[in-house]
Amino acid sequence: MKCPPHRSPWLARRGWVQAVSTVVLNLAFLRFLAPLKSAGGFCFPVLNCWACPGAVTSCPLGALQHAAGEARLLVASGTSWLAVIPYYILGTLFIFSVTLGRFMCGWLCPFGWLQDLLAKLSKYKLRPPPWAGYLRYAFLVGLVLVVPYYTSVQWFSKICPQGALQGGLLQPLLHPELRGGIGAWWWFKEAMLVAWLLSFVFVRRPFCRLMCPLGAIFSLFYGLSVLQIRVDPHKCVDCGLCEQVCPAGLNPREQVSSHLCISCLECQRCPQGAIAAVPVWRKDRREETVGLEEQVP
Ligand code: SF4
Ligand code: SF4
Ligand code: SF4
Repeated sequence: MKCPPHRSPWLARRGWVQAVSTVVLNLAFLRFLAPLKSAGGFCFPVLNCWACPGAVTSCPLGALQHAAGEARLLVASGTSWLAVIPYYILGTLFIFSVTLGRFMCGWLCPFGWLQDLLAKLSKYKLRPPPWAGYLRYAFLVGLVLVVPYYTSVQWFSKICPQGALQGGLLQPLLHPELRGGIGAWWWFKEAMLVAWLLSFVFVRRPFCRLMCPLGAIFSLFYGLSVLQIRVDPHKCVDCGLCEQVCPAGLNPREQVSSHLCISCLECQRCPQGAIAAVPVWRKDRREETVGLEEQVP
């Protein structure tokens, strides 16, 4: 089935928004932005590695692992629990989660954009089992919080493919003096990166679906997010187009409020206008429609 154009010009430019976001988040080469990075950086919740030579913002996952690793040492040395909680990172995550939520994933995340780009290379797609989406929570609790807390080692960063790409590849490329430090772990991490890149061609958003702890945090707050996506079942004619265009591999008719939805709004291409993003305070469109029908004698 031919993919119809978006009715809204803004929605049709999602790829451009993702591209601009990626560039803007990596402009530390510009002299006036460099102090931002050296000052510790602004924590922006998308997957954009702090180790990247161009990164202006810091990744909350790295910051959370660092805070977890420090917390045990500080508490052991007598610091109160209240003083070791990373309020700034948790506050940032909370604010972005309840405002933009997973729109960060669908529109602003550089690693999400990379997955969308590579997905265009093949029409053949594999579908991971639905339960696999819960692995993200295991990565969040295990490798971002608990294991770094007990080992003071940032284990998620050690296997993060965005880190392997932006930090692991670009740093030695731009700084030859670093190449001497390349060891077995570096090769292992880059091999995993290659495997991930291949998977991006044949699975829709596999990293977002299976591993990303940041997406998992957004998913936890999905119900509070300011914009919610609604399907009006009375308008749907079951053409299947929304399922065909969904970059997350969902069936929006049934899974539009799924914890795996990345709020990209691609399903709003629906020719019947059955899918729309509405502010959370507006009544469910489905309820409104049902209510009207019930008044008809
Ligand atoms: S879930 Fe995907 S798009 Fe969202 S932050 Fe993680 S990598 Fe980026
Ligand atoms: S919601 Fe729209 S695009 Fe999806 S199956 Fe129904 S009519 Fe087709
Ligand atoms: S259900 Fe719609 S908004 Fe959610 S990921 Fe799929 S196409 Fe995007």
